[in-house]
This record gives sequence, C-alpha cells and structure tokens, in this order.
Amino acid sequence: MADIGLVGLGVMGANLALNMAEKGNTVAVFNRTAAKTDAFMAHAGPLAPRLVPTKSLPDLAAAISDPKPVVLMVTAGPAVDQEAEVLAGVMKPGDIIIDCGNANFHDTRRREAEFKAKGIDFLGVGVSGGEEGARHGPSIMAGGDPKAWARVEKIFNAIAAKFDGEPCAALCGPDGAGHFVKTIHNGIEYADMQMIGEVYGVMRDGLGLTAPQMAEIFAHWNEGPLKSYLIEITSKVLGVIDEKTGKPIVDIILDTAGQKGTGRWSAMEAQDLGVPATVIEAAVAARALSSQKAERVAQEKLFGAAPRKFDTSLNHEAILKALEGALLGGKIVAYAQGFAVMAKASETYGWSLPLGTIAKIWRAGCIIRSVFLDDISKAYATSGSAANLMDIEPFTGLLKANNESLRLIVAEALLKGIPMPALSSALAYFDLSRTARSTADLTQAQRDFFGAHGFERLDAPGVVSHGPWAMGPG
Ligand code: NAP
Repeated sequence: MADIGLVGLGVMGANLALNMAEKGNTVAVFNRTAAKTDAFMAHAGPLAPRLVPTKSLPDLAAAISDPKPVVLMVTAGPAVDQEAEVLAGVMKPGDIIIDCGNANFHDTRRREAEFKAKGIDFLGVGVSGGEEGARHGPSIMAGGDPKAWARVEKIFNAIAAKFDGEPCAALCGPDGAGHFVKTIHNGIEYADMQMIGEVYGVMRDGLGLTAPQMAEIFAHWNEGPLKSYLIEITSKVLGVIDEKTGKPIVDIILDTAGQKGTGRWSAMEAQDLGVPATVIEAAVAARALSSQKAERVAQEKLFGAAPRKFDTSLNHEAILKALEGALLGGKIVAYAQGFAVMAKASETYGWSLPLGTIAKIWRAGCIIRSVFLDDISKAYATSGSAANLMDIEPFTGLLKANNESLRLIVAEALLKGIPMPALSSALAYFDLSRTARSTADLTQAQRDFFGAHGFERLDAPGVVSHGPWAMGPG
C-alpha cells in the first residue's frame, strides 16, 4: 500500500511525487488527464517501483494505507474544491487532505472548517522553490491541526530543503496560516525582485554598463551581505548570451513581467490589516505597469524620454558601492514590512505565527532564500516576535550604515528619471518611521474640519471634540 497520495502531476506535483518517492515513500498518483500520468510513469526511471498510478480519486484513496494523507497539487481555486469534495466522499475520519498549491488563505480557512465538520483533516501547505525545489527540496509552510501535521510531518521534513541539516518545513499555525505565510513570502519576493530590477536600471541606463559587466557585479555582491538565490540567478541571467543574435539574452527579452496573484494578495492583505507594506505594494504596482508596454511606449513619445544617464563626473566605484548599500537598506525595510504584516495577521487571526521559525524555513529551498534570513531568525530568537525588524540588531546598525546610500541612489535616479518605485518607497517608509513630528497634525485637523472627527492636543490630555474652525483666521 502507498504511504501517501498525490493529485495533479503538473510541474510541481510531478516533482513533489518524485521527491517523496526518492525519500523512500510509496506514492499513489492521479492526474485528471490520464495521458499525463502515463507520461509521468514512463519518465520515472528507477523511482517507478515506488509510484502507484491510479485512474480515479476513489482508486487513489483505495491504494493508500490508513490513515490516508492525500496531497492536492492542482491549479489553485475551484479545482481544489472539486477534487477535495470527491476525495472527502471516499475518505474516513483521520484521513488528511493536504492542499500544497498557492491557495488564497481565506479559502483555506473555509475549507479547513468545512472538512473538519465532516471529520476530515485539511492542511493548507505553502510550497516554495519552483520546479527545482519541488524535486530536490522546497521550503514548506504548513497550516492546520497540529495532530494532523504530526501524522505527515516526517514525510514533509524528508522532502524539504535543509539548512545546516535542519529541514525547512514547519507548521506555522492553524487553518490558513501556512498559505498566508506563503503569500507574504511571495510579496517579499516581488519586493526583492523589483528592487534588484531598479538597481539593474541604474547600472544599465544610469551608468551604461553591459550585461556581462553587471553579471560580474552581482556575482561579487553574492559574496557579501546580499548573498541570496535571487542575486545569484540575477548574475547568471545577465551572463547568458543569446545564440541567435550573439547579444546578452536580457537585452532581447520583452520588458513585461507576468504575475499570478500571490504578490497582489499580500499587498491586499497588508491593506486589509492596516499594515503599511509600501515596498511590496510598489513592487506589485510596478509589475502591473510593466505589462502596459504599448502605453509606456506611447507616453515616452508624448512626454519625451528621461535623461537617465548619471553625471559622468560621478565616481562609478562609489556609485556601485552605494547601490549595494541601497539594495541592502531597501531589503531591510521590505522584510520589516512583510514580517510586520505577519505579526498583525497572527494577532488578528489568533495564529501565534512563529516569526523566527518562518525566517528559518525560508533560509533554504524557497525563492527568497538568503543568509539575510539566517540573521532574521537569530534576531527573532533573542527579541521575540513582536519587534519591528528595523529596531533590532543587526538591522538597526545596517540601516544606520546604509540609509544614506539608499538616499543617494534614489535621489540621483529620480533626478535623472530612472524609475525607483520600490527603493523610493523603502526610503520614504524609513524617513516617515523616524520622524517624531509628522505632518499628520494637519491631516487630522482637516478631518476634524470636514467630518468633526476631533483631535488630541500635544499640551493637554483627552480628545477635543471639535476644533475652532468656524472662527476662521484669528
Ligand atoms: P501546472 O503545471 O499547470 O499543473 C496544474 C495541475 O492541476 C495539472 O495536473 C492539472 O491537471 C491539474 N488541474 C487543473 N485544473 C484541474 C481540475 N479542475 N481538476 C483536476 N485537476 C486539475 O501547475 P503547477 O505549476 O504544478 O502548480 C500547481 C500549484 O502549485 C498551483 O496552485 C501553483 O500556484 C502552485 N505553485 C506553483 C509553483 C511553480 O513554480 N510552478 C510554485 C509554488 C506553488 P491536467 O493535467 O488534467 O490539466
């Protein structure tokens, strides 16, 4: 009998099934389109004996020993409801449905409650790392009943990426907690990618560097505090030459980037929770603007192209050093925002999200994996989950050391018309956060003027119910 079942042999499902089989599990598999199951089995090689192909969901359930865990790795949305509903019809109490797709956590909360009422456990498990991660070790963010997780934890720990021998898999909290954490992971991923893109824009358009030159700079940065998967692949991407044209391949790739929704969800959830996640929001907006190629071309004609070139008198070496610092400063702000969104969600939904553990399971396997996350996990281990990352070491010190680089790069880029939506948002957030006397006195006065919302005075306790606006200027 199989140890576990898996539904959906697409890119992620097929690789997860092979990963599970490789770790010694017998895996029953099912795919809606049977031809895909046949092709999967034909390419399973030495792992084929540990894979049990089935032709229907009842067949799949029958092939698994009790209690049955079944992973769903199908397109997020109605497909999960359809497959889970059929599965539940052939499952018994104690069996577990495990949705490993990129579900919206609100759906996971609903599904968990619905299936619990039927006696079936439902785990919502975020999986990050793409195709390669799924095959050789993803980061795994689970949500659901601890007893249900305990029954499958060993399997997930075995297939997860390892950092210093520790599996990058954890139960993050009840019901939708795992899918929420995955959503925020993707929001931070958007922010990281956008900020790297903005720095690339300065190098390419401001400094006139070639892709191979930039590849070397990113490779060098990958040996310092920015060391991460995204910096590593940026260097690799910039170094690739197109066979057809002999040009760097980035120079012939259309400048529009797709999105599937998780980045947008993270910005929406941040807004819903009232937590400013301005860097993530800017990154999501920039991704949307990237897709409006025709409009951008037309508006460059209408308004004229920005100068973009940095002054040649500026010292390139110093600018490159500042760029590295700007990226590090922006990254600290973006992560502080993402973790603040998780802290607020934890409070709102009663999840007790272990932020230090979340940083730990993001250290390997996932797209934002980096040494930086090791520092975050250590910082949370000493400070507790309530702290703002910007307020704890080593991040406070790093921000003190790098915010001027961020300012210099943003200022120079904006003067030359190089777009900086994410890095400038990070700087604005930093500046607002350390402004003891903001301009919200005027905002609150305006609110009271037109809406009688009242205000507090600096020089006396209590709320003034309405200001002296009717008196006019004195
Ligand atoms: P994919 O390659 O497009 O495969 C989709 C799978 O879902 C196929 O097996 C497909 O079956 C099945 N499916 C779709 N609609 C169905 C329905 N109504 N009923 C039954 N089965 C249905 O997708 P993927 O990239 O593996 O992604 C799967 C999930 O993982 C998604 O939620 C995705 O967001 C998430 N994810 C993807 C990545 C990534 O890098 N690709 C990373 C993390 C998470 P058929 O063969 O019959 O069409």
